[in-house]
Amino acid sequence: MPSVPDAFLANSDVSSVPNPARSDGWQRELANAIRSVEVLLRRLNLNPHDPQTQSQLQIAGIQLADQDTLQHFPVLVPENFLARMTPGDLHDPLLRQVLPQAAESLSVAGFVPDPVSDLNARRTVGVLQKYAGRVLLIATGACAVHCRYCFRRDYPYAEEPRRLQDWQPALDEIASDHSITEVIFSGGDPFMLNDARLQVLCAALDQIPHVERIRFHTRLPVVLPARVTSELITMLTGLRAQPIVVVHANHANELVSDCADALRKLVRSGIPVLNQAVLLSGVNDNLGALEMLCRRLINLGVMPYYLHQLDRVSGTAHFEVDRALGQQWIQNLAARLPGYAIPRFVQEIPGEPNKTTL
Ligand code: SF4
Repeated sequence: MPSVPDAFLANSDVSSVPNPARSDGWQRELANAIRSVEVLLRRLNLNPHDPQTQSQLQIAGIQLADQDTLQHFPVLVPENFLARMTPGDLHDPLLRQVLPQAAESLSVAGFVPDPVSDLNARRTVGVLQKYAGRVLLIATGACAVHCRYCFRRDYPYAEEPRRLQDWQPALDEIASDHSITEVIFSGGDPFMLNDARLQVLCAALDQIPHVERIRFHTRLPVVLPARVTSELITMLTGLRAQPIVVVHANHANELVSDCADALRKLVRSGIPVLNQAVLLSGVNDNLGALEMLCRRLINLGVMPYYLHQLDRVSGTAHFEVDRALGQQWIQNLAARLPGYAIPRFVQEIPGEPNKTTL
């Protein structure tokens, strides 16, 4: 059985907040991320205590979240992501993804804590299995950004492995099941693990001959592009198993400046890079926004993979878009873009053997 080397066992909490004094550049950036609504708005030249901003908020139909909501799911926005927002614009599609609203505390019929049945898919600690041949590792609960529509905002991450040695049962389970050909690092965001810890887990999985592919579901190349270091790419391209990186961007405005550079760097290293987006009210709920997102992705060499209908998780109803509109826009996109640029419009329905195309 592959195992976690002893050298990494001590004091190895994989979801700890980085210590800025000992960190790489991306970890320093993360330590300096914005963690309050007030700072977020002030940095965009908006002051929630100022009558003019209050009137702008009212006109935009935004009521800010209360303290209970913020305690449950705090604000987290890296400076790099903030720099891509337009100051003073409450309709900015990036701001809308991270701005906590009072609507998050509403109880809406059909919106539940675990709409995709993650907890029923638990196979062993740290491992979920929903589809044949593939398992998900909940590699960490940490993220570099808190997306307000997150489908795992209520996931019990504290129950999953934190120290590297806690992963041994998961590794043993994967090694003992020859039907598992792909392991998907998920979370949270697996690129929040530092290089040493990511390397240890990847190396242990890479020793399992029937693991043919190792996939990483990550938003860091988009929200914290400094994470895409040469060391990370060297580690990924050095794997025996085929690495695949699936990033998460919802709007073309995310895919600029050093985010575009980071994605190009990944693509040109030879790693397949795909994108999954979520159809979100106020963010990308029009044909023009979806077309621009797909065009920018393919121009960077990133394949538009999925457009997800929103998972109906508690507190996110204000992001939902009528699925018939999504279906119409996907059809319209097909008339405007090459076939490879059209994502599959999908929904995850618990119990189905694969994602359902809408
Ligand atoms: S990066 Fe992914 S897991 Fe993290 S908050 Fe955003 S959607 Fe959720």
